[in-house]
Amino acid sequence: MMIDRQARKLLFETVAQRVIACADELTDLDRAIGDGDHGANMRRGFEAVLAAVDDLSARNFGESLKGVGTTLVMKVGGASGPLYGTLFLSLGKSLDDEVSREQVADAFAAAVDAVKARGKSDIGQKTMLDVLFPVLEVLREGGDHLPSRLKETARAAAEKTIPMRAIRGRASFLGERSVGHMDPGARSSALIVDAVADVMEGLA
Ligand code: ADP
Ligand code: MG
Repeated sequence: MMIDRQARKLLFETVAQRVIACADELTDLDRAIGDGDHGANMRRGFEAVLAAVDDLSARNFGESLKGVGTTLVMKVGGASGPLYGTLFLSLGKSLDDEVSREQVADAFAAAVDAVKARGKSDIGQKTMLDVLFPVLEVLREGGDHLPSRLKETARAAAEKTIPMRAIRGRASFLGERSVGHMDPGARSSALIVDAVADVMEGLA
């Protein structure tokens, strides 16, 4: 698959618009088990991506992903800014304009590892990793109907954070009281996967 300038622009715009449209939902989730800023953080970051989208997508895919990562690090703030920044920066290090499913899976595996290292976190701790990791597994498998399987995996994985007890991030301060709520970062990761999968479907 060739990710040309037009595809890059569509990809970044779709992700940004989807996150911005759901900012209030992310805020409500973060209000329950955090400090209620995840929606505002993500909206600020992705509004900055939208404002710079022409400049970002003019660069090759790797450099444009790094540009998105840098923008998120600078603008999102909180715990999630450096983590999403790390994810996009890491993807940008290994992806070229021409990408295969295997290359994306390898790049995503390295990016998920980078997020783990940055957050000193792992799966099962009620964070964004609980969505990113199952998505990585489906990406590795490949096969038919990949975009819709990625979307369903991300949606279900975010739901699965509801009964989890938070071990990392602000929600961990609540201990047992973090149980019974969806992790906001898991939900924002699912939104991003959903948007990317929709764009993939359109490009295929
Ligand atoms: P803050 O917690 O600083 O207010 P946000 O509200 O923007 O930042 O983001 C919270 C989300 O960040 C959490 O829901 C969780 O998914 C993610 N998160 C926080 N800490 C970690 C960590 N150490 N590793 C992975 N994800 C984390
Ligand atoms: Mg917060």
